[in-house]
Amino acid sequence: MRPQILFPLFADTCTLPGVGPKVAQNLEKLDARHVLDLLFMMPVSLTDRRSRPGVANAIDGQIASFEVEIEKHAPPPRRGLPYRVRTHDETGFLTLTWFHGRPDYLMRQLPPGERRIVSGKVEHFSGEIQMLHPDYIVLPQNADEIPPIEPVYPMTQGLAAKTLRKAIAGALERAPELEEWVDPGLLAAQQWPSWHKALIAIHQPTDLDVLDEQSPVRRRLAYDELLSRQLALALVRAHRRAKRGLALTGDGRKVQAILDNAPFTPTGAQSRVFAEIEADMAKPERMMRLLQGDVGSGKTFVAALAAARAVEAGGQCALMAPTEILARQHAQSLAPLLKCAGITLDVLTGRDKGQERARILSDLQSGKTNVICGTHALFQEGVEFNNLALVIIDEQHRFGVSDRLRLTRKGARPDLLVMTATPIPRTLALAVYGDMDLSMLDEKPPGRQPIATRVLPLDRLEDVISRLGKLIEDGGRGYWVCPLVEESDKVDLAAAEARFEDLKSRFGDHIGLIHGRMPAREKERLSLAFKSGEIQILVATTVVEVGMDVPEASVMVIEQAERFGLAQLHQLRGRVGRSARPSSCLLLYKPPLGETAKTRLKTLRETDDGFLIAETDWKLRGMGDLLGMRQSGLPKNHFARLETDAELLDLANTQARLIAQNDPDLAGKRGIALRQLLYLFAQDQAVRLLSSG
Ligand code: ADP
Ligand code: MG
Repeated sequence: MRPQILFPLFADTCTLPGVGPKVAQNLEKLDARHVLDLLFMMPVSLTDRRSRPGVANAIDGQIASFEVEIEKHAPPPRRGLPYRVRTHDETGFLTLTWFHGRPDYLMRQLPPGERRIVSGKVEHFSGEIQMLHPDYIVLPQNADEIPPIEPVYPMTQGLAAKTLRKAIAGALERAPELEEWVDPGLLAAQQWPSWHKALIAIHQPTDLDVLDEQSPVRRRLAYDELLSRQLALALVRAHRRAKRGLALTGDGRKVQAILDNAPFTPTGAQSRVFAEIEADMAKPERMMRLLQGDVGSGKTFVAALAAARAVEAGGQCALMAPTEILARQHAQSLAPLLKCAGITLDVLTGRDKGQERARILSDLQSGKTNVICGTHALFQEGVEFNNLALVIIDEQHRFGVSDRLRLTRKGARPDLLVMTATPIPRTLALAVYGDMDLSMLDEKPPGRQPIATRVLPLDRLEDVISRLGKLIEDGGRGYWVCPLVEESDKVDLAAAEARFEDLKSRFGDHIGLIHGRMPAREKERLSLAFKSGEIQILVATTVVEVGMDVPEASVMVIEQAERFGLAQLHQLRGRVGRSARPSSCLLLYKPPLGETAKTRLKTLRETDDGFLIAETDWKLRGMGDLLGMRQSGLPKNHFARLETDAELLDLANTQARLIAQNDPDLAGKRGIALRQLLYLFAQDQAVRLLSSG
C-alpha cells in the first residue's frame, strides 16, 4: 500500500554504505531502523569549521581549521604519554597530539615535509598551541571534504560520529523529491523550503541558524510532523462521523426528574456542558467527547444526566472507572440521582464471581439494568449488553488514541464520553485529543470555601498532629497521605504503617489505613467507614485510593509533599473543600527543598486554578510527563516541540480539518501528496481508513 517512491526510505539502515550489522545495532539504540529514521534524526547542535585564523591567532577552545606543513613526529618516550606531531604555518607552530596514536597510520596521514589541512579544537597548553585528536586531516586540494558547518548528532556508545554522519549522508542521497503537500499559500507566506530541501539544509547546513526555533527549515519540518498527526486525527474523526451511530433522544422526563430531585441546581457550566452532550447524542453520528473538569467541578452529575438521556432513548449506559473502589463510589453517588428517575443501576468488577456475576450479566443482557458502573471488566468477553447506547469513561489518562480506535473498530456504536480531572493545556489537548470534541467544566459549584494551603517543614509535625486532635474532637474528618511512588515500595508502605500506628496510639480507633496492596473488599470497608464517620482520619498511600467524595472531610495532610507531582497534589487537595466547612491542606516537606519542588509547592499555595496549575506543571516537567507520556498516546516528536510550537500546531490543526472536509479520501493531487506525508510519519492507520486505500 505504501507508495513506491517511498520504498528506499523504508529500507533497513544496513543497506546504507558503511552500515554493517554491528553499526545497524548501534543505530537501533538511537531508534533508527530505517533509512527514514536517519533522515529524521535532528542534529543536536552544529559545529562551525569555517574559521581559518592562522595558528598564532587561534583562540583557546575554538574549533578551527589550518593548513600546516608537517615537520616531525615525536612518538611517546614512555607509555602513557601522547604521540606528538609538530607542524607549522606562516604564523606559528601547532602540535597535533594523540593518546594511543598508531605510529604507522599517523606517519601515512602526516608525512613530514608535506602540507595538510587539519581541523579540530585548539588548546593552549603549557605555552604551546595544540590540537588533540584532530577531527579532520585532508590534502590541501581536498579542502571541501571538511564540512564548513557540521551537524552534531545524538551519540550512543560504540557508534563513531563519523560512521553516523556517513550513514546519514547516504540516507540523504536516497531521499526523493516529493510532491508538495503544504498548502501553496501557506508555503509562500512562511517562506518554507520544500521537504527535500529542508532535509538537506539540516544535514548539510550552510547556515548556523538552521536549527533555531524560528528557522523556516526547522519550522517546515516541525509543521510536517504536526500536520501528519493532526491530519490522522482529523481523518479518524471524519471517518467516525461518516459512520452511523445512534441518534439518542427522549422525552426528557428522566433528565427532568434528576434535575428536580437533585439537592442542588446545576452550575452554568454543568448546564452548558450537558447541552453540548445532549446535542451530540441526538445526532446520528457517534459522539466522541472529552469532558475536562477540575477536581470537584461536578462531573458525576453531568454523567448522571447523560446516562438518563441514554436510558430515556431506550438504551443502556456503562460507566467505566480505573479502580474497583472508584467504580463502587460512582455507583454510590449516582444511585440516589438515578433512583428518582426510576433508572436501575448495578456494579460489575473483576471481584464479582459465580452466581452473583451470572445475575449481574443476565440483568445486563435482558436490559433490566439500565446503568452499569465497573472497571475494564465491563468490556471483557462474556459481557453482553441489551442495547448499549452510551459509554462513559472516567479518568482519561489510561485511555489513548489506540484504545479509541479500537472502540471504533469493534463495530460497537455507542456514544462515548470521556471524563478527565486533569486539566490539560490546550496545546496538549489538541495534540492528543484532536479527534475528539472538547467540553469544559470551568466553574465550581457555589458555596465552596477556598482551601487554606500551607507549606510546612517536617519539624512542624507536632503542630499538625495537635490540629488533627482538634478536628477529631469537633467530629471532623481528614486525610493523611503518605507517598508511595511504587506499589512495591515496601519502605514507603512501612512509613505509612508507622504513621498510622503513631496516630492510632494518640487518637485511638478513629484512625484508618488504606493502601494500594489491600484487597478491594478491605478498601471498600474502610472507605465506607470513613464516609460514615466511624473513621475520622484516613491514612492513605496512593492518589487513587483517595479518589473519593466525602464532603465532610476538611483537612488534607500530605507528608513529603515534595515527592508528589503538581497535578497529583492538586488532585489530592481537591478531596477537601467540598462543603461549606472551611478546609485546609497542609503540605509537609522534608528540607532541604530543591528548586523545582519549591516552585511546585509555591504554585499550589498561591492558586487553585487547575488550568494554571497544569500549565505550570507542564513547564516544570516538560509536557510528556504531564499525563504520563506512555499512557497518553502522545508520540515522540522528531522536529516539533509542543512547548514552543503551539502556533504551528494550531496551523496544522486548522489545515487538517480543512483537508478532511474538502478531500476526506485524499484523492486529489494534494491528497496523494498528503498520503505520502502520513506514511513518512508512520500514520498508516489513518491511511487505512481512506475508502480508496
Ligand atoms: P468531580 O468528579 O468533578 O471531581 P464530583 O462530581 O465528585 O466532582 O462533585 C463534587 C461534589 O460537588 C459532590 O459532592 C457533588 O455532589 C457536588 N456538586 C456537584 N454539582 C453541584 C452543584 N451544581 N451544586 C452544588 N454541589 C454540587
Ligand atoms: Mg469524579
